[in-house]
Amino acid sequence: MLTPDAPAIEVADLHKRYGAFVAVDGVSFTVPTGEVFGLVGSNGAGKTTTLECLLGLREPDAGTVRVFGLDPARQGAEVRLRVGAQLQAAQLPPRLRVGEALVWFASFYPHTVDVDELLARWGLTDKRSTAFGDLSGGQRQRLFLALALLHSPELVCFDELTTGLDPRARRDTWRQVESLRDEGRTVLVVTHDMEEAERLCDRVAMLDGGRVVALGRPADLVEEAGVRSLEDVFLARTGPGSTTPPASVEMEVR
Ligand code: ATP
Repeated sequence: MLTPDAPAIEVADLHKRYGAFVAVDGVSFTVPTGEVFGLVGSNGAGKTTTLECLLGLREPDAGTVRVFGLDPARQGAEVRLRVGAQLQAAQLPPRLRVGEALVWFASFYPHTVDVDELLARWGLTDKRSTAFGDLSGGQRQRLFLALALLHSPELVCFDELTTGLDPRARRDTWRQVESLRDEGRTVLVVTHDMEEAERLCDRVAMLDGGRVVALGRPADLVEEAGVRSLEDVFLARTGPGSTTPPASVEMEVR
């Protein structure tokens, strides 16, 4: 059932374990359409697991996950038509050429954008005949970003968007994310790069040990903590000796 005015993302009291290990422990946040939202935090904080639940790749143990009002665990096909994702450490067959990858992925969708335009947008026009295995790290990353946008998704999810990119490519990629927001898309950025989160995100949920330890606009979180940067907030709120606020803060949504 479609809910026209549903937020892009609603996560309420999400729990996910791997065996006895609790990876996500009561995470809640809401992302209105058109926002660039960051899931930030330390390594192993539960960011990717939360994203995988949003994409219907993992089923929550408890709690609610909705994407445009749809349940990804039960309505995965509908969700994936409206969502594009660039996943961490993704791979393609090394001999598959860039153009072939785009044609192959395009076959999954009823409608796609113009592939020539997409290649030009991501600076890959002259790599169309290059095999995946011969691309540089940055070119691979841009190919995955192009693949995520092939079906013009309303929500785009990026996991470790700029890992491995040089400073210029990183800034170019940030500009591309801003242009996605300008086009009215919702963007979810999963990162432990606090500079990236501060620069790009309208709001962030900061995770540590599977729990939300801060939620809000980066500038507000910095001001509330009386520090200079989101990285300072991260250092104060996460890891051993952190000053994690009580659980009530975790439920704050706008
Ligand atoms: P990173 O920034 O390092 O990618 P993350 O915040 O994305 O970390 P997750 O990948 O969600 O964290 O992992 C959360 C925790 O769950 C980690 O401790 C990880 O080792 C564990 N974990 C993830 N996947 C599995 C799995 N399939 N089986 C067992 N444990 C897992």
